[in-house]
Amino acid sequence: MASQTDFYSFKHGMFAVTVLSDGPILLNGELFAPEATDAERAVVVARLNGSDNMAHAQSNIPLIVTEDDVILIDVGAGNRFQPTEGRLEENLKSAGYSAEDVTIVIISHAHPDHIWGLLRENGELRFPKARHFVGREEWDFWMGDAASALPAEVQPFVEGARRDLNAIADRVTFLNDGDEIVPGLMVIATPGHTAGHLSFQLNADLPLIVTVDAVASDVVAFEKPEWSFGFDMDPDRARVTRRALLDRAVRDNATLLGFHWIYPGVGTVRKDGEAYAFTSAAGDRS
Ligand SMILES: [Zn+2]
Repeated sequence: MASQTDFYSFKHGMFAVTVLSDGPILLNGELFAPEATDAERAVVVARLNGSDNMAHAQSNIPLIVTEDDVILIDVGAGNRFQPTEGRLEENLKSAGYSAEDVTIVIISHAHPDHIWGLLRENGELRFPKARHFVGREEWDFWMGDAASALPAEVQPFVEGARRDLNAIADRVTFLNDGDEIVPGLMVIATPGHTAGHLSFQLNADLPLIVTVDAVASDVVAFEKPEWSFGFDMDPDRARVTRRALLDRAVRDNATLLGFHWIYPGVGTVRKDGEAYAFTSAAGDRS
């Protein structure tokens, strides 16, 4: 883990990118690799520096600064999901910005670790001056009958998503595939992990793709692109999306930034037979 002042930063064309963290979440091996055998799963957990079938997933949140805007892609979980999370705002401060400085908040999808940090405990918006952007399909899914019909164990996710989405209903801008949020920052629809999951591309000489949970684990998804992530809500659709996004990244020589990957989750991808191989741009910082 990075200490509070040791953030990974880089320039990408006209964007200054700093990878913040909301803190790690502890997940069991079945969530990282549902289709793995016990032996394969033990290897995955070990490579994530975990033990006893438990390992940390990181929460890498890109802070993107342009001439005009201070942008966050996702806002972490606040202190509502796991006790190790909720550190985004303090890390943002360490990077030199207050919550009031944020002009744009983009939500990739409405899972707890990505959206539950939207509100403070008193119910006020954490980033009160920001324009908020959410995928149209994601909004419609969580607000609609299909979410109401999800199993009881998932209903806390539904309640949390509705709490946070309702809080921005008067100010939200909806996103669709191909939209340009600010010049050079494009929306890539990557459905499957959730119904309206979005990834994002920052244009420069070569693109940077913020995959978020379309490519959930750097230790699993490149080598085993057919394997699901435990939180994929439509695993078959997520599988098709994951391959399409990785093929696009290989074709375009893109740099990738992954939300749950070993910090800072920035690197490049190449084809490796029928699978892929990831090379971290930051060296081994785990
Ligand atoms: Zn996630």
